[in-house]
Amino acid sequence: MPYTSDDCLFCKIVAGTIPADVVHRDDHVVAFRDINPQAPTHILIIPTTHYENAAEVAGDDPSGLAALVVTARVLAQAEGIDRSGYRIVTNTGADAGQSVFHTHLHLLGGRRMAWPPG
Ligand code: 5GP
Repeated sequence: MPYTSDDCLFCKIVAGTIPADVVHRDDHVVAFRDINPQAPTHILIIPTTHYENAAEVAGDDPSGLAALVVTARVLAQAEGIDRSGYRIVTNTGADAGQSVFHTHLHLLGGRRMAWPPG
């Protein structure tokens, strides 16, 4: 049974107590469409275990972090954005704009993106 946090929005999405447009689910990873999409494809990819940020996952469960990236790759193919290109973003901390403190990869694609980010 993965560790969960009672007051975490994304743990509630994993548990199914808050609805989401889930596009992938296995024992370790859940992926769902962002409620406020910033690109034609905008999917959030999260571990079923509660970790605050990607650095925490990398330290405690490196293969779990790899599983998130592999899921991004598979979903990019399923969304048809793997050839045109896509962006994987993980905001870490307040200055980066992290607003939900259950680590997640943003998978963004389907439009041309600028650099540097705002
Ligand atoms: P962060 O700002 O932490 O990098 O990203 C959090 C993301 O979660 C934002 O893009 C935001 O739109 C998304 N989000 C926040 N609340 C919900 C929700 O209840 N459902 C879904 N599907 N996405 C959410």
